[in-house]
Order: sequence, then structure tokens, then C-alpha cells
Amino acid sequence: MSKIIVLMGAPGAGKGTQARLLQERLGLPQISTGDMFRALAEASTPLAEEVRAVQSTGKLISDDLVIRVVHERTNREDCKSGYILDGFPRTTVQATMLERLAVEQGHKVSAIFVDAPFEVLEKRTTGRRICPVCGEIYNVYFKPPKFDNACDQHPETQLIQRTDDTAEKIKVRLETYKQQTEPLLEYYKASKRLFKVDGMRDPQKIYEDIEAILTGDD
Ligand SMILES: [Zn+2]
Repeated sequence: MSKIIVLMGAPGAGKGTQARLLQERLGLPQISTGDMFRALAEASTPLAEEVRAVQSTGKLISDDLVIRVVHERTNREDCKSGYILDGFPRTTVQATMLERLAVEQGHKVSAIFVDAPFEVLEKRTTGRRICPVCGEIYNVYFKPPKFDNACDQHPETQLIQRTDDTAEKIKVRLETYKQQTEPLLEYYKASKRLFKVDGMRDPQKIYEDIEAILTGDD
């Protein structure tokens, strides 16, 4: 199975968990744009220098530069049998650039969309609380702690909410996500490469669906 998996899903849809499972069980590396740009900040290649030069001017990184970064990273040995893309493509222009890269690398592109209603995504994210001691994640709606706002293992410790998880921030993130992603969903749907999975179930069940799609789609 030589495949590029474009993993899509709103914040809180459980995309991260699925990416980790795919990486563990199918051995496909997860390539996230965030990680790539963090790595480039430390690197001393000509491409890294070019990226830093653009960033220092405060300008946006162009699609052309992003695809070159993706190209350089995914031409490495670990991506030979395919890879999972997270955070790329973000636009249909980038999606068409990815088509050319896929042809060059001999991979097939499949888009997996982990779908969940917006009300649930809001609760999953705004309800999230974390124990600062052990890192255990609770949710006031779906997995409340035994004691009010305290960790089950560390009852003396108050749970914290990440600043990204506040209601106002989540609303903005979900709206931005919706605007960006809808054209991409249409793009992959039109070329019959969009596979939708129901993100409302147990992560294990969602994973089984994804694996069945990927192995059945050759
Ligand atoms: Zn704890």
C-alpha cells in the first residue's frame, strides 16, 4: 500500500489519535506542517534558510515554498511506502500541487475525514481539563473527575484548562477550520477520494473503519 493519507478533521474530532494509531499500526510516518517548520527553524539547509528569510519579513509562506518543504521531507526513506499528512494541503491550490508530488513519488492520495457535529466538537474541546501533575485528560461533559475540578490521582491538585480550549478561541478555530476545509472536502469528493468516517464513536472503532478503507481501496 503506497499511499498518501490526507487526514482531515476539525479541532476535537480526534484526528491526532487516529494519526498516532495509523503511525503505530501501519508504520506510516505522520508528517505535520507544524513539526516540519519547527524542524526547519533549527536546520541549516538552503531551504531552511529560505524559509527563515521569508519568516523574518513577516510575510506568509507561499504555497510554492510549502510544497517544497513537504517535498523535501517526504522524499526521505521513511516515506517510501507512504505517509500521513496533517495540516497540509490547506487549500485546493496546495491540493493540486500535492497531486503532482504524488505522481512523482508513485503514491496514491486518499482523503480521510473524521466527522463530528460542531456542538460535540465544542464540548470535547471546551470541556477538556488537564492534571498538571500527571497529564491525565478529563472532560467535564464526557469524562468528569470524581472530585470537583481535581485529579482522581492527585485530589489536592486543581485541573487546568489550556488557553486554546476556551469557548471564544474554539469558536474562532472551528469557524476558520470550516471556511478552509469545505472547499478541500469538495475537491476530494469530486474526484471520489474522500472517505468520511463517523467521529462520534470509540477511537478504536474509528481506526478500524479507516484501516478498512485504506486496505480496501487499492
Ligand atoms: Zn493527576
